[in-house]
Amino acid sequence: KKRNPNENEFHQAVKEVFDSLIPVLVKNPHYIKQGILETIVEPERVISFRVPWVDDEGNVKVNRGFRVQYNSAIGPYKGGLRFHPSVNASIIKFLGFEQIFKNSLTGQPIGGGKGGADFDPKGKSDREIMRFCQSFMTELSKYIGPDTDVPAGDIGVGAREIGYLFGQYKKMRGGYEAGVLTGKGIGYGGSLARKEATGYGTVYFVEEMLQDQNLSFKGRTVVVSGSGNVSIYAMEKAAQLGAKVVACSDSNGYIYDKKGINLETVKRIKEVEKKRISAYVTDHPEAIYTENCLGIWSVPCDIALPCATQNEIDSASAEMLVSNGVKAVGEGANMPSTLEAVEIFLENNVLFAPAKAANAGGVSVSALEMSQNSSRLSWTFEEVDSKLQAIMKNIYQNSKEAAREYGAPGNFVVGANIAGFVKVADAMIEQGVI
Ligand code: NDP
Repeated sequence: KKRNPNENEFHQAVKEVFDSLIPVLVKNPHYIKQGILETIVEPERVISFRVPWVDDEGNVKVNRGFRVQYNSAIGPYKGGLRFHPSVNASIIKFLGFEQIFKNSLTGQPIGGGKGGADFDPKGKSDREIMRFCQSFMTELSKYIGPDTDVPAGDIGVGAREIGYLFGQYKKMRGGYEAGVLTGKGIGYGGSLARKEATGYGTVYFVEEMLQDQNLSFKGRTVVVSGSGNVSIYAMEKAAQLGAKVVACSDSNGYIYDKKGINLETVKRIKEVEKKRISAYVTDHPEAIYTENCLGIWSVPCDIALPCATQNEIDSASAEMLVSNGVKAVGEGANMPSTLEAVEIFLENNVLFAPAKAANAGGVSVSALEMSQNSSRLSWTFEEVDSKLQAIMKNIYQNSKEAAREYGAPGNFVVGANIAGFVKVADAMIEQGVI
């Protein structure tokens, strides 16, 4: 904390991982002797840069851009870009740190990284978004490449932004390097099922966890926070598996539709019209809209899927979910539950799927996009989706096995952190002190 003051989210992420690693360190003290903890917590490189751009009225605006190249022990840095006014060094470092272990868990050769800017895309015109992306990439292009660092989307960065970023990268580098970004449009190197991958993957992971207890999504009531990329496709897959999704949100408020959320309406509002979720009630007057997005956790449900942002479930919300009888919580967003909330879920025997494992489907399909780009092939939706399902099953089994081996059976927080850590730590040791 002395070395990284005011980086609360980063401290929270490191504490969660390091607490889980205690049994591994006791059994394998060489990790301590080799200085792995001190090394892994320090990014290999942090890039911070100015992003000047001109708005539609001709005013010059300046934002701050970041790329944290955290760890390349097992592959090129890989992780999304976030455009949101809350972005700062702490947020990008927490996300980058988490990404190291998540990417290791996928079983694919990808290191950890993350980036973004404190730019607010809300209310900006399409031209303003394009100019911002071009300015951001003019600088970022010096540091990334298909074999060094491969960014993707995250909050505020979807297919449109990736398109503008890719166009500018191409212009700066003077060549077509398809594998430099993932989440691209299908017409120019994107992978089918990438858009769906994080949300679908979260539901696949939770379904594995439920089935181990002879439960399933079928007939269950589900609440999903957010209404962005992860949330929409988590809702879609949960409904396909027979659940009824009754609530979703955005940063202003949440909607409750006791008949079940109409996903076509949500997709139109959020993906096409880019309006607020409150617009849902115009088409569905029986639904109820409530201001204050955090109130969503008061809606009774069997399964809760937080898919919006970090620390959106605090201890009070966790208590409320437990007292309403929640059976499982699956984290689609990164670190949506505070450390105290996680404790409450575990103490009350709620099946808990932590982000690192449960939302790894997105980066997994990003790695499959890189494979398709390298081989100049495009796989069908079904091929990619079945690989995604196999990867999520594998992550589930590996996390479960690691938790059992280190004396915490059923604790996927511990299992995912350990399974992700060991592979990276061993690779770091084999590559020497660098
Ligand atoms: P989007 O920008 O598509 O959607 C984000 C959603 O969360 C929106 O509904 C947004 O509401 C809401 N939200 C954002 N910030 C806040 C906030 N501070 N408080 C309340 N609600 C908020 O992002 P994604 O769906 O891509 O990402 C969601 C989460 O999933 C993030 O934690 C991200 O890191 C994580 N994730 C994403 C992956 C991906 O493949 N996209 C992969 C793995 C993890 P509003 O529109 O009002 O801002």
